[in-house]
Amino acid sequence: MATELQALHDLPAITTDGYRLPLWVNTGLAADVARSLERGAEGIGLYRTEIPFMIRESFPSEQEQLESYRKQLEAFAPLPVTMRTLDIGGDKALPYFPIDEENPSLGWRGIRITLDHPEIFMVQVRAMLRASVGLNNLRIMLPMVTSVHEVEEAKRQIDRACAELREEGYDVHAPPVGVMIEVPAAVYQARRFARMVDFISVGSNDLTQYLLAVDRNNPRVAGLYAPYHPAVLKALDFIAHEAHKERKHVSICGEIAADPGGALLLMAMGYDVLSVNANNLPRVKCAIRGVSLEEARHLLLKVRMMHDAEEIHQTLRQALRAFG
Ligand code: PEP
Ligand code: MG
Repeated sequence: MATELQALHDLPAITTDGYRLPLWVNTGLAADVARSLERGAEGIGLYRTEIPFMIRESFPSEQEQLESYRKQLEAFAPLPVTMRTLDIGGDKALPYFPIDEENPSLGWRGIRITLDHPEIFMVQVRAMLRASVGLNNLRIMLPMVTSVHEVEEAKRQIDRACAELREEGYDVHAPPVGVMIEVPAAVYQARRFARMVDFISVGSNDLTQYLLAVDRNNPRVAGLYAPYHPAVLKALDFIAHEAHKERKHVSICGEIAADPGGALLLMAMGYDVLSVNANNLPRVKCAIRGVSLEEARHLLLKVRMMHDAEEIHQTLRQALRAFG
């Protein structure tokens, strides 16, 4: 590791006026774990469990899943590891579970699939819970949630998996359960969801796609995919406030958090944790260490008055230059 990175690894993400913001990471492949620890990650805010599923030829068994989950949990223990239940469909295809739809982003994906296939969900949740025995640093997160009944049903199944495993003699602890806010319907129910779960995490990549009606993977409309669109920022602001009204932790694991300018805005909005890709973690940490919370809040106030995504982006770039 370069000496500069090594030096940064040991420093907290703390503003010049002493505000400390935990920086977690997003992982998927086994190799992400070592890189994340090297870069000083304080937890995993999103483990995309579907990634190991995508590079196989059939569904992994409970035992196979357990072994790979155990490695992540062990590597990070006692730091928290947030495992997202299988988020397939949409842009994430499994070769051995084909889904043919005209409009996959609005189709059968994420929690919709796993609630329709409780056998897939239960095997995965059982593997997560068994992997966490004795470590107890697991958090379970539900993707693409749009309605209260999905959360109720998923929680019921997680409780059932816990009960089953205890009957089988495993010393299982009920993990914190959270939901991702990724669709506009979830934004407007954020407070209701916050009451039902232990934490909220915003999936701003999908949220941007659905708020702006812009396919996140379509190069033809890539110029319209604007994470700094005022409507997206308003939604992010709103979610943080709604979660905090219920005294629940709110984090964000979409790519906007990995952009130093975005990270400052999110900190000013009150996000409790930013979860970023390991490559960007040092850059985000430097940005946080270069400002005061007061300055970040002023920047947010300024940006809130703007109506154009590009103007906002420019303003953030200028501010970062000014903060050094
Ligand atoms: C998101 O949508 O912001 C997110 C973190 O999930 P993914 O990118 O895996 O859909
Ligand atoms: Mg998503």
